[in-house]
Amino acid sequence: MSHFTPSFAAHFAPVRVRFGAGVRRQVSEEIARLGCKRALVLSTPPQADQAMEMAQDIGDLAVGVFTRATMHTPVSVTEEAVAHALSVRADCLVSVGGGSTTGLGKAIALRTDLPQIVVPTTYAGSEATNILGQTENGIKTTLTDPRVQPEVILYDAELVRSLPASLTVTSALNAMAHAAEGLYARDRNPVSTLLAIEGLEAFAESLEKVVASPGDLEARGRTLYGAWLCGTVLGQVGMALHHKLCHTLGGSFDLPHAETHAVMLPHTIAFNARAAARELEPVSRIFGNAHPGQGLFDFARKLGGPLALRDLGLKEADLDKAAEIATAKPYWNPQEVTKKDIAKLLGAAWRGDPPAF
Ligand code: NAD
Repeated sequence: MSHFTPSFAAHFAPVRVRFGAGVRRQVSEEIARLGCKRALVLSTPPQADQAMEMAQDIGDLAVGVFTRATMHTPVSVTEEAVAHALSVRADCLVSVGGGSTTGLGKAIALRTDLPQIVVPTTYAGSEATNILGQTENGIKTTLTDPRVQPEVILYDAELVRSLPASLTVTSALNAMAHAAEGLYARDRNPVSTLLAIEGLEAFAESLEKVVASPGDLEARGRTLYGAWLCGTVLGQVGMALHHKLCHTLGGSFDLPHAETHAVMLPHTIAFNARAAARELEPVSRIFGNAHPGQGLFDFARKLGGPLALRDLGLKEADLDKAAEIATAKPYWNPQEVTKKDIAKLLGAAWRGDPPAF
């Protein structure tokens, strides 16, 4: 069935994307292609070895390594990294890692306009968007800016082999959330819908394989393909209830990013299916259940994904406050959002019950 609609707007950023096992070794070629000569390599502390290996591989084109990227992109770390980039006269950035490292690269680019080459090692999808979330004084704010959009992405299946099974599943569900919410986005277009469906299919086809066999490079490559497509959807269209709720849970209760997305997705999709059943039909088809939320719940359970917010550290006493914060400011969502419904939804997600709607 065609996804054509008579009237729509779409925007595609000029991004160069390469796929392939071992493609991370082509970074020098990409630096030269950008007309650059002095790359600063970025990573989180646990991925410092990968950053060092990358700098060695780049050789003379690398002028420094900064390994202090942190979840939620604290402005204080960005300021240190910008000072470092200026001190070594970097003319481009190479981010090796997940959303935290990509976030730091984007935050530096916002302040310096340096071009970015991203080599993702999770499925978060940040590399495919012009969105940046930053934290200052405990408050996370999000902006969109063309300077933040990475210029080059190199997806290397060999780099996601080391993702532990639990992070593989939660990171994939985090990516799938972008596609699932993209299906009913108010500003969706026929191409964003195509990308969302293909992205969900890529994960449905490959995730079980990589959990059973983490070194399966063909299946790992397919998961990265899903990550790219789902991330591109996130960069194209506006998100709704699911992302707002996860933002509240992460920002106000310090819950972990990918795990929170993984637990919440079946519940938010089940809730929104009441108003967007037709748009969510691809989710029902791909995950083999007439109820798209239940299909996602069964998929996550089969893969050993987390199912309960209480297991992520949220206290039962905080549920009411979470429902209050999540409904304090109105935003567009296909299904009307009330505090009573969100409290019910959060209660089911907290206990790890199947979706209540
Ligand atoms: P992350 O980058 O913090 O990675 C999670 C942990 O896994 C880290 O300790 C990291 O070092 C480790 N890790 C990463 N890759 C690994 C690998 N291949 N093998 C072993 N360990 C590995 O987390 P994430 O989930 O990728 O990203 C989350 C962050 O990204 C959040 O801050 C979120 O807000 C942001 N994000 C932003 C966007 C956007 O468009 N702006 C989109 C998605 C996520």
